[in-house]
Amino acid sequence: MSKYTFFITGGAGFIGSAVTRYIISNTNHKVINIDSLTYAGNLDSLSCVSSSPNYLFENVDISDSKSIKQLFETHQPDIVMHLAAESHVDRSIESPALFLQTNITGTGTLLEQAKMYWEQLSPEKKKNFRFHHISTDEVYGSLGPGELFHENTPYAPSSPYSASKASADHLVRAWHKTYGLPTIITNCSNNYGPYHFPEKLIPHIILNALHNKPIPIYGNGKQIRDWLYVEDHAQALYKVATSGPPGETYNIGASNERQNIDIANSICDLLEELAPEQKTHKKPYHHLITHVKDRPGHDARYAIDSTKIQNDLHWFPTETFESGLRKTVQWYLDNPLWWQRVLSGDYKLKRIA
Ligand code: NAD
Repeated sequence: MSKYTFFITGGAGFIGSAVTRYIISNTNHKVINIDSLTYAGNLDSLSCVSSSPNYLFENVDISDSKSIKQLFETHQPDIVMHLAAESHVDRSIESPALFLQTNITGTGTLLEQAKMYWEQLSPEKKKNFRFHHISTDEVYGSLGPGELFHENTPYAPSSPYSASKASADHLVRAWHKTYGLPTIITNCSNNYGPYHFPEKLIPHIILNALHNKPIPIYGNGKQIRDWLYVEDHAQALYKVATSGPPGETYNIGASNERQNIDIANSICDLLEELAPEQKTHKKPYHHLITHVKDRPGHDARYAIDSTKIQNDLHWFPTETFESGLRKTVQWYLDNPLWWQRVLSGDYKLKRIA
């Protein structure tokens, strides 16, 4: 396979860093990580690949059209994988403005610069170019029992976050239909795994338990999410970006529907087995689970049908939820320095240096 140059926006985030680690560790391609290092960006997550000659970091905001234009001219990418976003639903409810700015305007800026760059490429490079938007199944809204999200499920986002991602998807499709830009969209379910920022459900539960703090669960905890191990997702994204036809959409999930309360219980079971000595109390970790007021507009259930990516691109997840969750809990036990630097804020010092 020829050597490609990838732009990965949001490469210092949870999923973007997994994709970057995957490409640098398993291929000969070049990765330009474009990230403005918001609170969610953490260069520590890339320390195992950052010395590779195939890796380069560019501290640039995707809304900065002049700098983005310059990056296209300088690096001449073959594939753009766009992951940079504000990604936390609770933050979008508290202050939506940044979500509109980054997820909608930022995506629009990136599309426009990609289009201008793509238009002047040679016919061969033009044909092979891809703009891949990494989106969420939350654009489809909430499901009743027994239903699944398909690629043609109508959009019905509930939160400012999911509405901003839905808007970005619409922009990406418009740039394909109107200008012919070779775009692809993937909508994935909830990711989990190593290097996950502690504000998200699974690391939040693990770290609160390890600190003997209450484990907060929204409402009755019966909301259902469909969980995808981040390294399985990274492989799926690489496959889509390198072999998916332009104009296509793929749903990516691993058929792991779990209630939030069951996840909290499973993590407590694992910690009882793997880290009983970290408790400062005699009761089981489960004792820390505390129900709190539900999130406004909380979707009841998400579940993804991944048949299309399995049939067309032969991608299948390798982890079950049980194996992935065990790996994740073990990773947090083995890598306290990573999350201690996040919790103390020290991970931010790298961007100043
Ligand atoms: P994340 O919050 O961990 O990382 C986002 C990254 O984008 C950070 O490194 C941040 O610094 C960077 N960023 C934010 N604004 C930027 C800007 N204006 N310019 C440049 N960089 C900027 O997010 P994640 O969980 O890795 O998610 C990645 C993508 O996948 C997002 O687009 C998200 O909507 C989507 N997604 C995530 C999940 C999930 O479960 N985590 C599920 C479905 C879809």
